[in-house]
Amino acid sequence: LEQKVTVLESQIPKKYPDVKFLNYKRKKKILVTGGAGFVGSHLVDKLMLNGHEVVVADNFFTGRKQNVEHWIGHQNFELLHHDIVNPLYIEVDQIYHLASPASPPHYMENPVKTLKTNTIGTINMLGLAKRVNATILIASTSEVYGDPEVHPQSEMYWGHVNPIGPRACYDEGKRVAETLTYSYVKMEHVQVRVARIFNTYGPRMHMNDGRVVSNFILQALQGIDLTIYGSGGQTRSFQYVSDLVDGLAALMESNYTLPVNLGNPTEHTIEEFATIIKQLVGGNSKIMHVAAVEDDPQKRKPDITRAKQYLNWEPKVNLTKGLKKTVEYFKQELKLFKSDTNK
Ligand code: NAD
Ligand code: UDP
Ligand code: UDP
Repeated sequence: LEQKVTVLESQIPKKYPDVKFLNYKRKKKILVTGGAGFVGSHLVDKLMLNGHEVVVADNFFTGRKQNVEHWIGHQNFELLHHDIVNPLYIEVDQIYHLASPASPPHYMENPVKTLKTNTIGTINMLGLAKRVNATILIASTSEVYGDPEVHPQSEMYWGHVNPIGPRACYDEGKRVAETLTYSYVKMEHVQVRVARIFNTYGPRMHMNDGRVVSNFILQALQGIDLTIYGSGGQTRSFQYVSDLVDGLAALMESNYTLPVNLGNPTEHTIEEFATIIKQLVGGNSKIMHVAAVEDDPQKRKPDITRAKQYLNWEPKVNLTKGLKKTVEYFKQELKLFKSDTNK
């Protein structure tokens, strides 16, 4: 009988990925706001696999249940449908505060809501951190540097942001989020970490994300022309999502409290980037130029000296390897999308 049971058990499909076992002293209860989004869901995977208890709070504005569905029902996992503009009373040891739309078309859709999420939402999370004595990591952005006049950007640079332009709701929202964070340090001695995240890409980006990586890959896969906004001479530096997630965890576990840039310093013009993606995907797409967008930062590249020194972190995944994985992901997404629309 024993033998039969073992055989049967091995036939049951495995429900959850293998997670480490941590005893109660090492196991932390961790809140990830925006945990159903692109970056958040990869972070959730890392924290879950390391054996922690994870609570996700997300209003599903740009995130999807599908991104974390492989954890639903697991005893260490909880998914809350919650808008962080409203207070949240729970008990946690750490907070990764990622809730905020990140792609320009998404954050511009409702600028007032973007501001509320980054200001009132951040106050709520700082209030929670203060009450339960949790360490809080704020997901800030390279957009705090605006259209930079200093290149590459180090954390010492104060930035060049148009406070009334179309990107202001996000850029200024994140700048206030940083100001709030250090005000809670001054007034309430909250334990904080601030990550200034540079352009990140990878699987689980939304099909309608609207950022350059997803746009170019989807256009190339469908044989549509790749749309460059403006001259294409503007630059960006792209990091693969697993590098970012490693950096976020390293920052949280460090005792470094000032802002830290997390990004890949390999810089490309958008024109070069279009060519790289076209070559990688193949097909008949051409590259076309359309109107430039307002206030588009003309160059961006992180100085990561601080992250190297204090976190012993630097990106590991090169662009070709990361893009190949992302192209595979979008191929699958397109297949699912087509089979769904054919029904
Ligand atoms: P995303 O849009 O995929 O994820 C954001 C998540 O936050 C989504 O799940 C969304 O539903 C949720 N959310 C938005 N408003 C909310 C609210 N009011 N209450 C609760 N949940 C809410 O974006 P992402 O790329 O995963 O970005 C995550 C974080 O990293 C953001 O704070 C973003 O500003 C920051 N960031 C990302 C990048 C990047 O290139 N991906 C660059 C710089 C900074
Ligand atoms: N807050 C929360 N969860 C908590 C504690 C506070 O969401 O566990 C919110 C609360 O709604 C408040 C905000 O965080 O508006 C700031 O809290 P703080 O204690 O700093 O301010 P106060 O409550 O004194 O206005
Ligand atoms: N961009 C582009 N074509 C697109 C989408 C974006 O040329 O289809 C450009 C955009 O103008 C910007 C760069 O690519 O110069 C990066 O844009 P994205 O929206 O990805 O991120 P962000 O501007 O926030 O860095």
